[in-house]
Amino acid sequence: MFRPGRFSGGVHPKSHKNTDAYPTVHLDDFTQIRLPMSMHVGPPCTPVVKVGDRVKVGQLVGQATGPLAVPIHSSVSGQVTAIRWETFVDGRSVEVVQIESDGLYSHAESVLPPIVTDRESFLQALQDSGLVGLGGAGFPTHRKLRIPEGKQVEYLLINAAECEPYITADFRQCAEHPDEIIAGIALVMRYLAIPQAIIGIEDNKPLAARLLKDELARPGDGLALKTAIRVQLLKTVYPQGAERVLIHSLTGRTVPSGGLPIDVGVVMLNVSTVRFIAKYIKTGMPLVRKHLTLDGSGIKKPCNVSVPIGAMIPDVIAHAGGNALAAGKIIMGSSMMGVALDRLDLPVIKQNNMILVFDSCEANLPGESQCIHCGRCVRVCPMRLLPYALDDGARRQDLGQLQANHVQDCIECGCCTYVCPAKKFLVQNIRAGKVQVRQAN
Ligand code: SF4
Ligand code: SF4
Repeated sequence: MFRPGRFSGGVHPKSHKNTDAYPTVHLDDFTQIRLPMSMHVGPPCTPVVKVGDRVKVGQLVGQATGPLAVPIHSSVSGQVTAIRWETFVDGRSVEVVQIESDGLYSHAESVLPPIVTDRESFLQALQDSGLVGLGGAGFPTHRKLRIPEGKQVEYLLINAAECEPYITADFRQCAEHPDEIIAGIALVMRYLAIPQAIIGIEDNKPLAARLLKDELARPGDGLALKTAIRVQLLKTVYPQGAERVLIHSLTGRTVPSGGLPIDVGVVMLNVSTVRFIAKYIKTGMPLVRKHLTLDGSGIKKPCNVSVPIGAMIPDVIAHAGGNALAAGKIIMGSSMMGVALDRLDLPVIKQNNMILVFDSCEANLPGESQCIHCGRCVRVCPMRLLPYALDDGARRQDLGQLQANHVQDCIECGCCTYVCPAKKFLVQNIRAGKVQVRQAN
């Protein structure tokens, strides 16, 4: 029987939500930003500025080069001082536009509210805004909302679960801007003719749920649409906010292996994504800032900040009383799924929603030992996979074993690694196994 808010598997890591009471602080004190021309899934952008050009906030810097790409805009006003190729965090070589800020944050004249009259102009506006899913995947939102011919969307699902340890950036959005979140949901429902929406929030965030419910009950514009939006509390368990898990928790529907949410009549957006949509349609300011949680044992003042996209990570860490040079490990993203940085000269990008800094003591990983066949990894896997078998297949590069055990269904949540008493690097190897299969195909 379907019980909303629940799924099989998952783990309960310590929540470490140290920053949930700290309002978002707006940081502008950055002398230099670097904008990589690839901050989305899809082909990289082409720079449309040259060294020496003066730019303003919201001005186009990187032109999108296809339907799966979104443009990149300047997040500061100042002067372009370099355009060069750099190695990105994932090993790719990416063109980067470097801008020295004049500290004035003057807005470009082109920043005007878009004219939106129907579905097509709405989707075009979203593409022009440079918006990608702000939950971290980097998939262009206009593309996600382009519903294939013959498919129907029954539910717009809003991911406000924020199930990962430490992070509170989305919670702060709910606490600080419930009106814009509801307005963004209403815009998506109206232009895509989606009949109902559900906001999924873990039950350890009652304040966020209450504020959103209050906003839904508030009389005013769009009341008819508001009655089609509801807030659903979810059991607090990681990875409740993973797309496939949350779809099942909210609707009881299972996305088929290799399928997409639209195959079960669903579109899912992150709560910060819908808030941005409302702001953009009102102001026309493209995606130029990012909300981040800064935390970890290497951070003196854990906090939530809003920074210009392209701000250098060591500068952002310094604002929170941390010292990037002294850190044992810096993770871009969450403690369960984030990427450990192998160098420091990297900027905040559109996909970032947290920076974790750990001291050398916490950064130490225990060594692996032999599998003791305890089965814990199987019990916690939310996708009902056999992590020990996938790990074995990946280590031996046995594509047959990997495929037979549905390696591509792994959502890389890390639950298996988290519980393994042998401290095996399960998710790390399974991730490599997915790449092996993808390359072979
Ligand atoms: S196998 Fe993949 S989906 Fe399953 S627990 Fe491990 S990382 Fe998560
Ligand atoms: S949890 Fe670790 S030790 Fe236990 S079966 Fe899985 S891989 Fe083996």
